Amino acid sequence: MYVLCSVFGFAYKFEIYSGQDISTRPEATRQKRDDEKNTPRGTYEERTASYEGVDLACIAWKDNKIVTMLSSYVGTEPVSTVKRFDKKTRERIDILCPKSITEYNSHMGGVDLLDSFLGRYHIRVKSRKWYIRIFFHLFDLAVINSWIIYKNNAIKENVAKKNILNLGEFRNELAYVLCNSGTNENKRGRPSSSSLEQELQAKKKRLQSKPIPPLDIRMDGLGHWPDVGVSLRCKYPHCTGYTTISCAKCGINLCLNKNNNCFTRFHTT
Ligand SMILES: [Zn+2]
Ligand SMILES: [Zn+2]
Repeated sequence: MYVLCSVFGFAYKFEIYSGQDISTRPEATRQKRDDEKNTPRGTYEERTASYEGVDLACIAWKDNKIVTMLSSYVGTEPVSTVKRFDKKTRERIDILCPKSITEYNSHMGGVDLLDSFLGRYHIRVKSRKWYIRIFFHLFDLAVINSWIIYKNNAIKENVAKKNILNLGEFRNELAYVLCNSGTNENKRGRPSSSSLEQELQAKKKRLQSKPIPPLDIRMDGLGHWPDVGVSLRCKYPHCTGYTTISCAKCGINLCLNKNNNCFTRFHTT
């Protein structure tokens, strides 16, 4: 798949291809390899052409090997220099470098970055059907793109770095929200009738603090029924009250009395 990427790994455009046509590959000859060896570093050549109204520049530049590049918007000019180590003189020397090469080097990170994101987490599919694999690949691509947008927005809004989700956390939250948003599921299960069991459950609850559900679940307005159980500290930020009221879906205690309505505030703001 060809992907057009930003420096941050955001995929703008993609195209699926099915391997190159071998018959169009030029024959590599021995003559060419000898020429390559004798050409001094920094040598370059440029050919230009116009194809369907688009000016194209094809550049060949000798670094350690010959690098060829085709560009629709940049050619050799302005030529700059890059530092390279010269084996004969054993010192760093300046060699000429066409503009299209420096342009490429400053932007090439994007696709590599995207690939490293894809490599870190991806949906594993065993299917041998190519279109299933492409579907999940594109799904992963969409997740990465949305994470990059989320991250950029968070940075713009000055969210503290430690509060910005990394890709793994983002995927976890996304999965949780996609599975639970709009569902009417009771997370706590049926209350146990045995008083001993209830005490044990309460103890367990006191020991481990429940994670606060993501915003998309908290505000989805479905199945957030109040439950009455053991008295625990209210989880609403900065509220220090204790309450026996909890949300059946979120599984956390929230005040609901004549002075405080953390329950409604938690689910609406
Ligand atoms: Zn709730
Ligand atoms: Zn409260």
